[in-house]
Amino acid sequence: MESRSPIQDLDHKLDILEHVNQDHSEEVLAIAESHVSRSLKIVSAKIVDLFEEGVLIQANTLEAKPSEDSTSESQQDIFAPFVINGSLEDKILYLAYAAIVKQGRDFSGTGKRFFEVINTQKVTPNITRLTLKSSTPLPDYYPGHAFAFVLKSLQKQPELVASSQGKKSWQKNLFDRAFIWLMKHLSTKHRQKLLMSANKDVRLYTLRNAWQSEGSDFIDQAHVDVFTHGNTAGSQWVKSLSKGDIISSRSEAKDKHPHLHQGQALLVADETAYPALAGILEQWQNPITPYIILLSEKATEQAYFKVTDLPDGAHIERLVCAPQQQGEKVLAALDNVTNIDAVWAAFESDSAKQVRHFLRNERNVTGKNNHTKAYWRLNVKR
Ligand SMILES: Cc1cc2nc3c(=O)[nH]c(=O)nc-3n(C[C@H](O)[C@H](O)[C@H](O)COP(=O)(O)OP(=O)(O)OC[C@H]3O[C@@H](n4cnc5c(N)ncnc54)[C@H](O)[C@@H]3O)c2cc1C
Repeated sequence: MESRSPIQDLDHKLDILEHVNQDHSEEVLAIAESHVSRSLKIVSAKIVDLFEEGVLIQANTLEAKPSEDSTSESQQDIFAPFVINGSLEDKILYLAYAAIVKQGRDFSGTGKRFFEVINTQKVTPNITRLTLKSSTPLPDYYPGHAFAFVLKSLQKQPELVASSQGKKSWQKNLFDRAFIWLMKHLSTKHRQKLLMSANKDVRLYTLRNAWQSEGSDFIDQAHVDVFTHGNTAGSQWVKSLSKGDIISSRSEAKDKHPHLHQGQALLVADETAYPALAGILEQWQNPITPYIILLSEKATEQAYFKVTDLPDGAHIERLVCAPQQQGEKVLAALDNVTNIDAVWAAFESDSAKQVRHFLRNERNVTGKNNHTKAYWRLNVKR
């Protein structure tokens, strides 16, 4: 058996393991698929442990039995050894992307979409709402569903956009293979630089909601709410958009919330996560009302949530603070909350880490129930 040395920093290991299982299930599936025989169909897969040398995945599989004209279900442990040096995140991502490219799929996600801007409107002094019309069906379940928007706008909708969805051109295939080759052969520092430059003009923004407009055969319209702050690339892009512009997204990611359906839930969001939180609250199914913490740098941004948008009886804490203080303010507020079973939270990265570790280590909220996410990073240099 290959050697499996434990990772010393347990919190770091759990941060990565939980993040990858919560937000990158497609990638975990791809890694598992590339490590089993083709006759095995993998139904689902999750990482159960991480070692210095690789990842241990538990997969639920279906095997075809042609002689009996049937299939058999089983569970299998798969160890996928790392093939590059670098940070733990890089090593897992590399395994996933190499597997996806090997399968001839697009490693940047589920593909490109185009949207027409049909309205822009301010909902608070620094939150701008884009109303978009999509050329392809948008998801039914929108809470937390985020798009990686390319910070550009086109004048005219490219033709054949819809018909080219899902297909991968040979140029893209070649680019993906070259990218994977480079990722494997660059030093950690240069790899980080390459990843940063590949994402330089891309920003993640959430579907606030999505609906089927009159005359459309599918869910085609959506709101996307962007918090603008200073002269950053994302803020300038949003301010530059007007009716009729065509914008595109490069990939997208779902968010799942079954863990919030029972028990006492804690929900925390700053301005960037208000759209996701509003979606979660709109589809609230848990009879126990949540404990909600709303963070913002300025009090005026909190007008995003009107009293009627928040569940009756929910305990709401509105905290106004500098981004650097988000972690300590949330922890202070949690002093008054005795019971926490499940969490959805998204705000600044270091603060999110502080709160995630507190919930894990002091309040025993397990990984499955502790979705405390980093939505942005202070002082990132692109
Ligand atoms: C899954 C997901 C969904 C998201 N959904 C939304 C959404 O619906 N709406 C939304 O507005 N954002 C959302 N975000 C956050 C958004 O992607 C980031 O804030 C992004 O960094 C903004 O890009 P930028 O060009 O404005 O700033 P960047 O180029 O990333 O950073 C430039 C500078 O601005 C600072 N900065 C970045 N974000 C903030 C901030 N929020 N407050 C203060 N300073 C900041 C950085 O520290 C850096 O110094 C989401 C993030 C994720 C991961």
